[in-house]
This record gives sequence, C-alpha cells and structure tokens, in this order.
Amino acid sequence: MTVVTRFAPSPTGYLHIGGARTALFNWLFARHHGGKFLLRIEDTDRERSTDDAVQKIYDGLNWLGLDWDGEAVSQFSRVARHAEVAKQLLDEGKAYYCYCTPEELTEMREKARAEGRTVAYDRRWRDSDATPPSDVKPVIRLKAPLEGETVICDAVQGEVTVSNDKIDDMVLMRGDGTPTYMLAVVVDDHDMGVTHAIRGDDHLTNAFRQKVIYDAMGWETPQFAHIPLIHGSDGKKLSKRHGALAADSYREDGFLPEAMRNYLLRLGWGHGDDEFIPTEKAIEWFNLEGIGRSPARFDTAKLTALNFEYIRQADNQRLADLVLPLIENELGESMNKDGVDWLVAGMPGLKDRAKTLLELAASAGFYLRALPFTYDDKALKLINKGDAKELLSKFVASLETVSDWTQENLENAAKQLAESEEVGLGKIAQPIRVALTGSTVSPSVFEVMAVIGREETTKRLSTGPANQGE
Ligand code: GLU
Repeated sequence: MTVVTRFAPSPTGYLHIGGARTALFNWLFARHHGGKFLLRIEDTDRERSTDDAVQKIYDGLNWLGLDWDGEAVSQFSRVARHAEVAKQLLDEGKAYYCYCTPEELTEMREKARAEGRTVAYDRRWRDSDATPPSDVKPVIRLKAPLEGETVICDAVQGEVTVSNDKIDDMVLMRGDGTPTYMLAVVVDDHDMGVTHAIRGDDHLTNAFRQKVIYDAMGWETPQFAHIPLIHGSDGKKLSKRHGALAADSYREDGFLPEAMRNYLLRLGWGHGDDEFIPTEKAIEWFNLEGIGRSPARFDTAKLTALNFEYIRQADNQRLADLVLPLIENELGESMNKDGVDWLVAGMPGLKDRAKTLLELAASAGFYLRALPFTYDDKALKLINKGDAKELLSKFVASLETVSDWTQENLENAAKQLAESEEVGLGKIAQPIRVALTGSTVSPSVFEVMAVIGREETTKRLSTGPANQGE
C-alpha cells in the first residue's frame, strides 16, 4: 500500500501554528513511507476563502519546506462530484430530502435541549411519503444507523466508540445545492486515495459522522490519527495571548524553518529524550506511535534554544543571504557594498552568538556600515576615556610591522603593545573594538581585522566617531 496523507486547511487568513504542525506530521509520515503528501484547500466557504488567504498557506508551507505532491486540490472545484455522491446515496435509498423550515428546526433544537438529547432533528422526512411543500428548497440528509455503535480505531486515541443514537441524520447537501463540510471531506479523501488522515483532535467527533458516510458508500475509512491540540505555557488552549499564532510571524521574528520544523515536531511527538532532531532524522524516525496523548505546551524558550543551535550549524553564505536584506533595510544609503563579502567571511564569529536572525543582523551590521561610524554611548565613553585614543594610534603604527595579515599575527601585535605599555590586553582590544565596530560588543577584534583586511582596518582605526559629542 502506498501511504497517502493530506493537509486540508481552510484558508482563514494565515497558516496557524497548529495547522503547520498538522501539515508537518502528515508530510513526515508520507516521506517516511516514501508515500505522497497532498494538499487540499478547503475553500467551500466562499466568503472567507480569498486568493490571498490561499497564498498565505502556500507561502507558509513553502517557507517550512513542506512540499506537497502534485497540484493543490481546491475543494470548491469538486462541488459537482460531491453532489454526484449525494445523488448516489439518494438513489440507493441511503439518503433523503428533508423539507424542514428553519422555524421547525429551531423548535426541534429547543425541544432536544430541554430534554437533554444531542440529536435534535427528529427524522420526520426520513421515511415520509407526505407531499413536499413547493416553497422549501430541500436539503439532503443521510440515513444514519438507528441502532448499534460506530467505532473508530484511532492511531493516537485508540479505539473510540460512539453509540449511534448520538449520531444524527446529518445534512450532506444544503438547500442551495452546496455540499456540507462533512460530505466534502469524505468524498475528497476517498477520491484522493488518502490512507492516513492525521489532524487535530477537534475533528474526532466529526470522524464518527464521517465514518457513517464512508460506510454508506461502502468505502474504506482511512486510518485516523487525531493529535491533541497545542496549549499555551499556562496549559490553556493556545491563543493570541500566548504569542503569535501565524507560522509566518516566526519567519519575520528571525527563526529558521528547520528550527521551526524541529520545534513543531516536538510539540506532540517524541523520540526518547531527543530534542535536537534535524529533518533527515525526523523523516527516518517519524511514526504515529510517537504522538503523545496529552496536549503539548507551546514554549517559545525551547523554540529559541533550537533556533540558536540551527543558526550555529547553518551555512555561512545562506545566513548572510538571509540577514543582508535586514541590514540593508536598517542602513539604507549608508551601506558599504564591500561589506557583503566581509559579512560572509565574518559569519563564523557572528553566528555563535545569535538566537535569531534579527539578533544576527543587528550584530553583523558593522561589517557593512560606511565610515564614519556613529558610536553607541558606551563606545563613545570608552574611546574618550584615559589613554584609549593614544593606545589606538600606537596600535595603528604597530600594524605596519605586521606583514602577514592573519588573526594570529594581529593578536600578537596587540599583545606586544600591551606588554611594552604595561597594560592588560583588554585596554588595547576595547578601543580597537570600538573603532572597528562602533560598539563595545562584537566578535573577536582580531577576527574582524582579519576579515576586513589591512586597508579597511587602518581606515576604521584612524577615523573617529561621527558623533564625537565633546
Ligand atoms: N479544513 C479542516 C480544518 O482546517 C480540516 C479538515 C480535516 O483535516 O479533515 O480544520
């Protein structure tokens, strides 16, 4: 059997964190089994489904690297097929027209509520031979079983049983000829050959009703796996209070997609004590048995810790490409184009300290800044204090003796000067740092000098701050 999974989002405006996790699990399961991962956009709600919302889902999945097989399927485009199945059920006597007015239905609902029953509709048109009213557009309802029980063998929840007196004669087609969600999902999953439906456990009750439709059509039910929803750090259902809900906003906040994938995987799936699980490992290890039964808690600190790790391991050129637009945006006209190469070369010293790409961009900006630099307050204070400037000029002079411009030789030059001046190395390194970067915090100054080369180093060390403030 070829495994076929699917992600079936309703385009509501953005790709939700929970949706992204559902997509990831389906993707991993399909990739693990060498099967197919399909995408179906559940766009039958025409008012809420805009092209923009659909595009956001594509963008979110693309960013996360969750590629789907074949073209995405629009559920709305399959309306005729849904109607055909409803017609077949009618023809086979497994469904019927119901002519109830909204008032009648409200009355039934109120009565059921008063009597504490879950099934409201009293099935009055199920076996009726009354003459249909001419002014009501009928809905099509399924003849749900009246006795027995419906059982779902869920890969996460285990065997779950519902007594059939809790399952109503659900509407399959509305009076306006549009299919209901319940019918559309079943028909689409069947036609798309879906073998495994992994989704949030808010769909578990739907699964029973869907099973009844599968049975009526004589179709095989896919293997369901209903995953517990994601909770916030306080154990309550994840909401805006807990942080951003859109997967995309994590991209804007400087998270790498592989870190997000790893984090989403750990939100509900485990493999021993492993936390750092790169995607190849995830594909190798993923199974439905590893999905937990209790809700996972969203924890931004864990996501950030993973991002830190993935940034450290990421390719330098790729990181430079990702942060360059952010730096350009920050610096605008005052950007020194030569700095692009330095950014890549300086990446090893930068990427060890950044928890997000935003932090990385902020700490890397000095490579691309045009002279003269505006020093930050601390830097300005430092350079104006004691003999900082004097030591700096002496260091510039000593650089003439450095013939081979390596990090090691530069460090030795600074050490020699510290010795002859009888000061600590820091007394020399700090003014150098300030002159090189405009700040008191940066990667190793010797690394920075090695990266930007003799000419730029000399320029930076000899140019004072743009904001002298004396
Ligand atoms: N469209 C549904 C949703 O976005 C998912 C349906 C399904 O997975 O069966 O919640």
